Amino acid sequence: MDTIIIKSLGGAETVTGSKHLLKTSELNILVDCGLFQGLKSLREQNWKSLNIDIEEIDIVILTHAHLDHCGYIPLLVKNGFKGKIYMTEPTKELAKLILLDSAKLQEEDAEKANYHHYTKHNPAKPLYTVNNAEKSFKQFYTVKENVSIKLSEHIQCRFKTCGHIIGACSVEIVCFDKTIVFSGDIGRNHSAILPPPDFFTKADLLVMESTYGDRLHDNTNLYDSLEHWINFTIKNNGNIIIPSFAVGRAQEVIYILSQLKEQNKIPHDLPIILDSPMAASATDIMLEYAEYTTVDKEKWLEIIDHININREYMNTAEIVHDKQSKIIIAGSGMLTGGRVLEYLKHDIGNSRNTVLIVGFQAEGTRGRALLNDSHELKIHGKYYPVKANIVELTGLSAHADQSELMEWIRKYKNPPQQIMLVHGESSAQEALRVKIQTDLKIPVKILIKDEEVVC
Ligand SMILES: [Zn+2]
Repeated sequence: MDTIIIKSLGGAETVTGSKHLLKTSELNILVDCGLFQGLKSLREQNWKSLNIDIEEIDIVILTHAHLDHCGYIPLLVKNGFKGKIYMTEPTKELAKLILLDSAKLQEEDAEKANYHHYTKHNPAKPLYTVNNAEKSFKQFYTVKENVSIKLSEHIQCRFKTCGHIIGACSVEIVCFDKTIVFSGDIGRNHSAILPPPDFFTKADLLVMESTYGDRLHDNTNLYDSLEHWINFTIKNNGNIIIPSFAVGRAQEVIYILSQLKEQNKIPHDLPIILDSPMAASATDIMLEYAEYTTVDKEKWLEIIDHININREYMNTAEIVHDKQSKIIIAGSGMLTGGRVLEYLKHDIGNSRNTVLIVGFQAEGTRGRALLNDSHELKIHGKYYPVKANIVELTGLSAHADQSELMEWIRKYKNPPQQIMLVHGESSAQEALRVKIQTDLKIPVKILIKDEEVVC
């Protein structure tokens, strides 16, 4: 029997930097190639060399286009990776958008650091450039869902939709006589715009995400809660700010808000502003691949027609100072940067306004600080008191909760022989490990970064 080794280079005991290496006698396959985000100690890991010779990696498989899964690709290519990078069509378009944006931000950060001399490195350099990102696109190779692809004589892979964002998939790798499934980020069973996660029937080893391994989402009253907080805020002449990932979440939020208008739950003339060039471009890509959603293209066009989309940064100040109540959707989703900070600087100190948190907030981010009842928020070197209503709506999450993760495992005709947990913070992983072992009697291991495990 052939020896297969799994080794995580990132996304182990944390939710960012996903990079899981499958070493076999025929091929070494890296599943996902993400950037670390959030805490400074994590971000610094992006600058350290990987604990592997990059030329040993033959193939990259990308489950989806979020930065914490694809953001390291330009650096991998820059440092010598020559193989193909497999992904679905929508993932390809979204990954290009996200990587170009990431490269541009890094170039700008390095420029700023050099200009203001706040760098230990002289001169400060970007992690990678726009040019590096563009070069890596040449290695992108698209695949269809539900089709087995032969990677080498004894290794095949197959992608299946996982309902997390458009194009996102779980991946099955059949390797000699073993089947290994990488869950990717698993979506919700009842997303407003995406089909539910598909599943596989057999796995000797399941490498599974555990972001919400210790939590249940509150699904009961998502539309009611949104309706309540929007109407409550506009009655007080306030603004509703929804920090949002540009890809996936922003489009789902737009769809749900349009439903609330259609059902006369919120005023028809309440302006909804999408202030994010990235989200605007991601929306264009979603329109191009509307068949990957559960909403048809005509309906999407009608919805988007009623949204004010702002791409120009010059216009943001004007919208910030506009006195009319409105809903603003802007990035970044965890408040680590982006235009949403301009709105927060203006609005967070006033109890008339409401910040709706609709996505996962990693440790060390401003979003997590708000959820932890922080009394002030530091933005661009200055502290702002937190007086606005801070409301978390977990029903809008793009990640399965504990019960949905358990349900997803139960769908296997033959239960997986072993599960390895990745992509979760320690408390979530520990809770899910115990839950799976107790309820399903499947051995579970929490994968530790750089540890080689023979499977
Ligand atoms: Zn994701």
